[in-house]
Amino acid sequence: MDHNVIELFDITKKYGSFTAVDHLNLTVKKSEVFGLLGPNGAGKSTTILMMLGLTEPTSGSVSVCGINSTTNPIEVKRKVGYLPEDVGFYNDLTGIENLVYTARLNGFSRNEAEKSAVKFMKRVGLSDDINKKAGKYSKGMRQRLGLADVLIKKPEIIILDEPTSGIDPTGVRDFLNLIVGLSRQDGITVLFSSHNLHQVQQVCDHLALFVKGKIIADGNVQDLSVKLFGNEPFIISAGISLNVNNVNPEEELKKIEGVTTISREKNIFNISCSKDITSEIARVIVNSGMNLNYLQRKEYGLDEIYNRYFEGEEKHERK
Ligand code: ADP
Ligand code: MG
Repeated sequence: MDHNVIELFDITKKYGSFTAVDHLNLTVKKSEVFGLLGPNGAGKSTTILMMLGLTEPTSGSVSVCGINSTTNPIEVKRKVGYLPEDVGFYNDLTGIENLVYTARLNGFSRNEAEKSAVKFMKRVGLSDDINKKAGKYSKGMRQRLGLADVLIKKPEIIILDEPTSGIDPTGVRDFLNLIVGLSRQDGITVLFSSHNLHQVQQVCDHLALFVKGKIIADGNVQDLSVKLFGNEPFIISAGISLNVNNVNPEEELKKIEGVTTISREKNIFNISCSKDITSEIARVIVNSGMNLNYLQRKEYGLDEIYNRYFEGEEKHERK
């Protein structure tokens, strides 16, 4: 069940002398929810277009369901449903008329097209808006209609480019739940791009961090923490008050195996560690005769990864 359905092998895309995607390798497994996370201009949309065969890589190869996207884009199109950033609908037609139109284009009889349209409008939560003109739909409703439009073609894979941009927070949550449902219940492989880490973190089984055309890390959130913060994935903060013995807390703490660096803010000692040694730290503090007033373990999450890689990009030398 876990074979690769999307494989990018050493893909590069240049626009003139500018490299938008730089020697990228990426695999997506069947039925997973895969997130491409990165700031604007990172190369996410370009990568998606190459997966779909809508733009040719300068070098490297792309296959989707074992089909070469560059040489057989039409075959790929049969397997993949694609929701671009801005979905186009006929605004004068109702939601359901738009879907019936798509279904008819895909070879459904009128009867089948109408039945499917109703079914998928329901699936995406638009049952009450079937007969409203698409031009009157909100951004969130348009995205749902876009998803229905993609699903009606019964794709094995759906690829969504920034599907949640411009939707309000409640709408985002519903939309993300819908996507996860497609993967869990229907076994559809979902790949979506986003510059919003919280959304990606909420729903993705696997994610790839894009910066300037390169994937700087990929894996699940925990894998990424280890990859990016390899030698000190934990920070343990200890509040220590000194007693009469005049013990030096830093000296005592440094002796513990796994402690890499210690910084101090008044009575709080922030201890960076290569492994979780919270209990060992507590023991050493108490056994050395110091008072332990506070102890907290912090694990690096995507927030830190994001801050480190996306918001202060020039400092990023560590791997
Ligand atoms: P993202 O989707 O992550 O925001 P894109 O893939 O759209 O990033 O763009 C990556 C880079 O490639 C950007 O610097 C963008 O300006 C550039 N780019 C994208 N499409 C073209 C194009 N057709 N011609 C020239 N440059 C492009
Ligand atoms: Mg984009």
